[in-house]
Amino acid sequence: DKGLAVFTSGGDAQGMNAAVRAVVRVGLYLGCKVYFIREGYQGMVDGGEHIVEANWSSVSCIIHKGGTIIGSARCMDFKKREGRLKAAQNLIEKGINNLVVIGGDGSLTGADLFRQEWGSLLDELLKDGRISKEGFEKNKNLKIVGLVGSIDNDFCGTDMTIGTDSALHRIIEAIDAIVSTAYSHQRTFIMEVMGRHCGYLAIVVGLAAEADYVFIPEEPVENDWETKICEKLQLERASGQRLNIIIVSEGAIDRNGQPITAEQVKNVVEKNLHQDTRITVLGHVQRGGSPSAFDRVLGSRMGAEAVMALMEADDSAEPCVISLDGNQAVRLPLMECVKQTKEVAKAMEEKKWDRAVELRGKS
Ligand code: ATP
Repeated sequence: DKGLAVFTSGGDAQGMNAAVRAVVRVGLYLGCKVYFIREGYQGMVDGGEHIVEANWSSVSCIIHKGGTIIGSARCMDFKKREGRLKAAQNLIEKGINNLVVIGGDGSLTGADLFRQEWGSLLDELLKDGRISKEGFEKNKNLKIVGLVGSIDNDFCGTDMTIGTDSALHRIIEAIDAIVSTAYSHQRTFIMEVMGRHCGYLAIVVGLAAEADYVFIPEEPVENDWETKICEKLQLERASGQRLNIIIVSEGAIDRNGQPITAEQVKNVVEKNLHQDTRITVLGHVQRGGSPSAFDRVLGSRMGAEAVMALMEADDSAEPCVISLDGNQAVRLPLMECVKQTKEVAKAMEEKKWDRAVELRGKS
């Protein structure tokens, strides 16, 4: 039997369960012994009841659920070598040397480091008598495949991350609800949406919900933004529109890199246009609730492809990440994608916004 484990790490996203389900079922189908690792890297470090064998029915009736049924956590222990030693020992004890990690760039970086260190971790464990010679011999190579779960769609290399489409649905539903009440009272609504340094959610819902103005991190506003937004809103009202919708991405900034907040925008609109203006911060609603059909299918496809990639990889294969490229599931070098994603974040921090967009565009 090939030992295979799946875990979810970092922030949760809708569609992770579909991926977990596909990993388990395709793994079983291909003759693997499949395990869940509960609570991400923390479960790997703690071992015991956190690493449990999965069967066909353990993943029944989960595809429609949001979040991750096997739990996710941030884990400081795994960032230290002693934590990774414990994690390796726990995996060896169960005969696990194939891992599917579902998470963001941090989780994938941790996975890559773990794989790089695997040989030396095993040497140390054997020397200290913490694993048997047989366990050492059988599990000399660790194979890893990553899947990206994130509602932000901020990972380079894939057209869509697992969870983004569901988050878009959640936001659109909320805006539609707001629009009906805004219409009655001729109000202006400012909706703050998630995305960290990535404006994908904001720009897409801006298009889909015909927003009047969108603030995103990749296009910091110029000094005259207050005049511009007021002119635009006035124009819409003058042409007969009874309401205005403004989308503010949580990472929106001005040219000095200073945050543009929903509160700031509200003050500008109220002061200059005297419109009845309200703020709605959607918050964690965006990452909750059932996954969309797209995310269920995306998670399923990615999970299945991850197991196939593991089974086809030879012992020296570099870890890959399963990505969506023009509706094809493709295998890309994990660390190259992580590196590019981090470069985008760095470019954003350094206020090189065009560079960030260019780097993202390449992926
Ligand atoms: P999200 O996009 O939701 O933030 P993420 O996977 O990027 O997801 P992180 O908090 O960065 O989230 O990482 C999740 C976990 O991965 C960490 O708590 C830690 O256990 C592990 N991890 C992250 N970076 C490293 C690293 N450099 N070395 C070892 N482990 C790491």
